Amino acid sequence: MHKRILVGAAVVAVAAGLGLALSPNAQFVIGGAMVNLGFRMQDHLEAFDLDHNHPDSKAVYDSVVQHNHLAAGVRQLFPRTPRHPLVAMVVCMDARIDTEELVGDTRKYYYVIRTAGSALADKELDMLELAVANGVETILLTRHTDCAAEKVAANPQLRGRYPHLVAAIDQRDAIDKALAARPSIAQKLRTGALTIGHMHIDTATDAMTEVATGK
Ligand SMILES: [Zn+2]
Repeated sequence: MHKRILVGAAVVAVAAGLGLALSPNAQFVIGGAMVNLGFRMQDHLEAFDLDHNHPDSKAVYDSVVQHNHLAAGVRQLFPRTPRHPLVAMVVCMDARIDTEELVGDTRKYYYVIRTAGSALADKELDMLELAVANGVETILLTRHTDCAAEKVAANPQLRGRYPHLVAAIDQRDAIDKALAARPSIAQKLRTGALTIGHMHIDTATDAMTEVATGK
């Protein structure tokens, strides 16, 4: 374990040392590319726990804990700069979407709310309103292709089995409108201090397309 942390730290140190000699734009682009490089290097490793065949759920649990020890060990050597997010993203819980990959940005300029089907409830609206009061200037309300929650809501047989999920999906548009109508949000939208974007993510490619909402 300790050896693996040292190897990870050495790789990060070399990459960081090389990167600092570059312009800010080049560092940002190469950093984003390296996020994808990291995903690519891990993507083909099919065994979840790498060294075993996870005979039971406890082995999966143990593997998550071990991976955290490893990741946190490297991270402690390279502390991150605290930043206040300028963007809040609402994203479905679908595992195929990774928000850092989505924007090629590992800095902490993004709040992320992940819910089934990107469906918001009043507590998330409160949180978004608080985030805007604290400096967020853009909210991205995203949905995505091949969404399991949307499929349930569109299937008459499954609608009865998952009534709470279906209700949340059915109410999404109305809740999104309620967010924009909150007085402090509406005021910032009018003055241009806040932008709300409705986006559709292609789950396979991460490409985001702006959706007209007819507002
Ligand atoms: Zn989804």
